Amino acid sequence: MTADCLFCKIINKEIPADIVYEDDRVLAFRDINPQAPIHTLLIPHKHISTINDAGTDDQNLLGHMILVAAHIAKDNGVEESGYRLVMNCNEHGGQTVFHIHLHILSGRQLTHLG
Ligand code: 5GP
Ligand code: ZN
Repeated sequence: MTADCLFCKIINKEIPADIVYEDDRVLAFRDINPQAPIHTLLIPHKHISTINDAGTDDQNLLGHMILVAAHIAKDNGVEESGYRLVMNCNEHGGQTVFHIHLHILSGRQLTHLG
């Protein structure tokens, strides 16, 4: 828990969120400003500000996040139609909340990158 971190407050249930999955290490909830018909955010309980701050100790946690994201996509029935996993980092990456989070975007054709 880091004081004044929005996502730590969501983990601690101090701020409400539309939670779709939780286990002992991660929490997933609907994005408040969805960029796709189904837009979920998946965050670790552990406060890590940016992916630059993750270390080798976090390898299992980061792998777990990707597997949970695939599980959520299956729950949403989009594993075949497809989905996109995105983690933004710092200013040029477009990161606005400094507690790492995986965006799970699905439900429409997403534009090609680059
Ligand atoms: P970033 O821009 O840091 O990659 O993503 C932050 C995401 O958090 C944005 O998509 C934004 O809509 C979402 N977000 C910001 N504040 C809240 C909130 O209070 N509740 C929820 N559910 N999502 C939020
Ligand atoms: Zn936090």
